[in-house]
Amino acid sequence: MEKLLSGKKGIVFGVANNRSIAWGCAKKCLEEGAEISFSYLGEAQKKRVGDLLADYSESQCSFFPCDLSKDEEIEAFISKVKEKWETVDFVIHSVAYTDRENLKDSFSVVSRESFARTLDISAYSLVAVTKAIAPLMKNGGSIVTMTYLGAEKVIPRYNVMGVAKAALESSAKYLAYEYGQNGIRINCISAGALKTLSSSAVLGIKDMIEKSSQISPLKRSLTQEDVASTALYLLSDLSSGVTGEVMHVDCGYNILGMFD
Ligand code: NAD
Repeated sequence: MEKLLSGKKGIVFGVANNRSIAWGCAKKCLEEGAEISFSYLGEAQKKRVGDLLADYSESQCSFFPCDLSKDEEIEAFISKVKEKWETVDFVIHSVAYTDRENLKDSFSVVSRESFARTLDISAYSLVAVTKAIAPLMKNGGSIVTMTYLGAEKVIPRYNVMGVAKAALESSAKYLAYEYGQNGIRINCISAGALKTLSSSAVLGIKDMIEKSSQISPLKRSLTQEDVASTALYLLSDLSSGVTGEVMHVDCGYNILGMFD
């Protein structure tokens, strides 16, 4: 049987280490025959991404630097991609940032500067990436970004990241509307809590993960694999009629209005 992403070329932003949601999704895409260009942020991450890709051939995987808060770095990244490929078929945008002090008890502690930085990296970067890559999506394409329930409901201590995720989801919908005519689909995965480098900055994350696995309808912990399988669906032609969607992959946690 032909693999779901045979011959497809994709870009993955947001692999920090093997626990990263982006890495789970990328592995799945590689298994399904995709070729991938990865980004990395800083020298330490370059080494970690390089180690993760050691088992893959250079023709299947390559990696270049890119700080998504800088347009010139996005341009330089795209230039590198263009040296290899004439077209791009998919993008995984799995990137977020806020200052650590924003993820404690108080939402209003956030400064004007930190609020702007959080929204720039965590939400605007999707707009910047879509604008930059759309001209390479000559045969249409699929873009997936990672969001969280904190965009819709108050999640204690998620604070300004919730505001950023609301902006990200809304941006994804406006982008889906604008780029739909080019055959480019843009969807969000609203993942349940998983233990990663970023989530470890949220005060009390361990308890959140534990509680949600007890409470959620599926009564189990969410896995990186759960999110990766949905990403594969959204990136492949299986979801050809789906765009502007926020798909919850959280063992059903989001449907609950009260806990029993
Ligand atoms: P992670 O720390 O592994 O990944 C976050 C990535 O964002 C890192 O690779 C980091 O380098 C990158 N990044 C931050 N600032 C950047 C910048 N300026 N330019 C380029 N890259 C930058 O953590 P993760 O949990 O895998 O997070 C991935 C995405 O999933 C994030 O959007 C996060 O909000 C979202 N998410 C995570 C969870 C969870 O529980 N872990 C749940 C729902 C959504």
